[in-house]
Amino acid sequence: MSSKSKLSRSKYLSDVACGLAKGDGTVVVMDSIPICDCCQKNPAFMDGKTKMGSWAYMCVSCSAVFSIGLGVGKGQQLVLRSE
Ligand SMILES: [Zn+2]
Repeated sequence: MSSKSKLSRSKYLSDVACGLAKGDGTVVVMDSIPICDCCQKNPAFMDGKTKMGSWAYMCVSCSAVFSIGLGVGKGQQLVLRSE
């Protein structure tokens, strides 16, 4: 896991991300991490179902808002292959 913490907000967000990841969520190994479909700015943290019902790549901050969680049929965390 990366431990970049530029903003205090990112500490909260990483806690959210860890909480999501601790469940029975599955993980997808990727050759490269796509850009978040929601903000089109940050690298995606997961590929998952949104509260709107569609699937999208979401960064940590967008997943905290839009994701319904990690798990089969809900979302998978994206992990770089080199990890
Ligand atoms: Zn985003």
